[in-house]
Amino acid sequence: MRKIFSFLLIATMAMGITACSPSKPAADTSAPAESAKTEAAAPASEELPLIGVTIYKYDDNFMSFVRQNIEKAADGKAQLIMNDSQNDQAKQNDQVDAMIAKGVKALAINLVDPGAAPAIAEKAKAAGIPVIFFNKEYPDGTDKVGYDNAWYVGTTSAESGVIQGELIVDAWKANANWDKNGDGKMQYVMLMGEPGHPDAEARTKYSVDTVVAAGIEVQELAKQTGMWDAAKGKELMETWLAAHGDNIEMIICNNDGMALGAVEALKAAGYFEGDKFMPVVGVDAIPEALDLVEKGQMAGTVLNDADNQGKATLELAVNAALGKDVVEGTNWVLDATRAVRVPYVAVTK
Ligand code: BGC
Ligand code: CA
Repeated sequence: MRKIFSFLLIATMAMGITACSPSKPAADTSAPAESAKTEAAAPASEELPLIGVTIYKYDDNFMSFVRQNIEKAADGKAQLIMNDSQNDQAKQNDQVDAMIAKGVKALAINLVDPGAAPAIAEKAKAAGIPVIFFNKEYPDGTDKVGYDNAWYVGTTSAESGVIQGELIVDAWKANANWDKNGDGKMQYVMLMGEPGHPDAEARTKYSVDTVVAAGIEVQELAKQTGMWDAAKGKELMETWLAAHGDNIEMIICNNDGMALGAVEALKAAGYFEGDKFMPVVGVDAIPEALDLVEKGQMAGTVLNDADNQGKATLELAVNAALGKDVVEGTNWVLDATRAVRVPYVAVTK
């Protein structure tokens, strides 16, 4: 019995190998699926595992850095198929199907909709390949997506809110004149990221909670989503300046993209000339924001480490593709939800 079983096992394995070996996925030059804007990496050594990546939209300032870092980390380690999901979950689902059909050995998925993780995990499971989600975390945790070969690379969302709150507390206490109406309260407006995105939800909550916990009274004048986007942030800030003007004493932004937009609106309204000033804080520490911090046009930001998140995503995906323990040979540590969490760091002038 045992002999028959092991024979069957070897036969199945051999079939598996023959079934896989003739495909040369990287050299596949067939036109990408109509809905999928797909770039195949240049044909590389056949030894390198083929990994299918999606970015929720290329037109996201922070994600462009994560993408660059995934590509950098893939050098000599993996062949990538990189997709722009254009902020469309249905499109991303098609891209995942197309990559599975091309024979990818692992998926690295930046979801459009964080809630779509189980649906993508289902596809990966059916294809028998592992999936690494990154940047957009399934709100219930990656251990709850219904697939053991699913992991997450990102951050502890709440940490960015707490650090941003601490930045605000320190700056507020150091600048008594920021309480322009002298009522002892901080009147603020909040530019939020995408609704349902764990980073957006946590930053919105923990930034203000941290300020309040430090004994500073606050009053919210306006709060709305700018969808992580500079143009939307600028528009909202224009509206709020028209409505509240100098009653606004603090502009809290869930990311730097929207902070850049807010600063644009402020500049157009004559701020940062003479002593006309309004403090703006963000998250990410993208280069443009660091520039504004340096110029004193942003009060601070929080480093969201695109470098290490890109690197970790690629390293876990390569290990998973090779059937190894996902963190083998790396410095990353998994938590109980099968997530690697890269720390945030405060950034001020
Ligand atoms: C970043 C945002 C980005 C978002 C995309 C967040 O972690 O802070 O800038 O737009 O991820 O999912
Ligand atoms: Ca005040």
